[in-house]
Amino acid sequence: MNKQPISNFDPNNPPQQELIDTCVHCGFCLATCPSYRVIGKEMDSPRGRIYLMDAINKGEAVIDEVTSSHFDSCLGCLACVSTCPSGVQYDKLIAATRPQVERNQPRTLADRLIRTLIFNLFPYPNRLRTFLPSLWLYQKSGLQKLIRQTGLLKKVFPRLAAMESILPEITAKSLYDHLPEIIPAQGEKRYRVGMILGCVQRLFFNSVNEATVRVLTANGCEVVIPKGQGCCAALPAHQGQEEQARSLARQTIDSFADTDVDAVIINAAGCGHTLKEYGHILAHDPQYKDRARQFANKVKDVQEFLSEVGLTTKLSPISDRELLVVYQDACHLLHGQKISLQPRQLLRQIPGIKLREPIDAALCCGSAGIYNMLQPEVADELGQQKVTNLVNTGAELIASPNPGCSLQITKHLNLQNKETALLHPMELLDYSIRGLKLDLKGRN
Ligand code: SF4
Ligand code: SF4
Repeated sequence: MNKQPISNFDPNNPPQQELIDTCVHCGFCLATCPSYRVIGKEMDSPRGRIYLMDAINKGEAVIDEVTSSHFDSCLGCLACVSTCPSGVQYDKLIAATRPQVERNQPRTLADRLIRTLIFNLFPYPNRLRTFLPSLWLYQKSGLQKLIRQTGLLKKVFPRLAAMESILPEITAKSLYDHLPEIIPAQGEKRYRVGMILGCVQRLFFNSVNEATVRVLTANGCEVVIPKGQGCCAALPAHQGQEEQARSLARQTIDSFADTDVDAVIINAAGCGHTLKEYGHILAHDPQYKDRARQFANKVKDVQEFLSEVGLTTKLSPISDRELLVVYQDACHLLHGQKISLQPRQLLRQIPGIKLREPIDAALCCGSAGIYNMLQPEVADELGQQKVTNLVNTGAELIASPNPGCSLQITKHLNLQNKETALLHPMELLDYSIRGLKLDLKGRN
């Protein structure tokens, strides 16, 4: 008797066969896929991964160390979704596959250790903060320089070294949240908006949050920053850690309950994409599904929001001469939220700024959440390429809308000994609104 092969995807939301079947295997997506560009193997391309999902669904392949490595090598950048002429929803397919891998493929000890460290630390800013004084000492004592010079950490623990290599400078501002809960609008109030602080953003890019608040208030927004907010869930959601993602999403929704805001503003691309997905993340939670959808409908990337409502403040030049700036497209803005014109339109409004465009603007920089810590070799190749392309535009300054990309690009600027400055577009607008001139020396 012929036995029907059985899929070893478990019955809990496997990748949908109807979505898999929309792929016509044309291969248009391959050239835009960063993992395929670096690794060069079909199975590390969108088409190859869809073949694998299909085979596992039909019981012709299994989730094992080899197949899961091909899913792990995906950066989740969603470039393939933008490229696919058949409208294949690879985002939904990989989002369903990652939790299956987490549940059904045991990880190696080293993998488990690094993932446990990341998932128990990074989405909890207060836990991460307790390590900052030691990290400050590590940087100031010269130990960091020594460790990097010897290259020993990279030889023994390459993933830990990758994590260390993107560590930004720890400053006193990293140690506490100092923005008040409500910041009034300047002049006539046009909107009341909530603001998400982000995890990496609030610890290491506090100046970006401060600049965002100043830009919003200068343009007639009262800003509400609920104290109870934690991580938006982007990190666990992108890695298939479903339970943790749901719990963090519920916490964020609760923290904004009763704030009565017109919009929830986020200035980090990766977080924005996840916040807009809350309706899907909590779709099967009877208590939260409606609230999650309502919350997600209010989420706006800050550049998207400002473009929609328009700037009402006067903008001044931020340099005494023409300033060449290159805007770096973050994947979760460009591919995930289809936001690319708005940041450029805002930057062009600053007098004296001239925008340059890099080649391969739509290709991931290799940061991809925690990808650069888990898959450092592929990430380094992409980071190196991205920085070369950005620098080759001749721009003096890179405008980056995502903290993960900023860390990755800064690392590779330093490795290539480039002095190109890097700031968030909100910092540039803030300078312009306040009539300040930018000092480009020593920005990295
Ligand atoms: S995902 Fe789209 S672009 Fe890629 S092979 Fe399938 S149909 Fe073609
Ligand atoms: S999400 Fe990015 S890395 Fe993953 S298959 Fe699509 S293009 Fe390739």
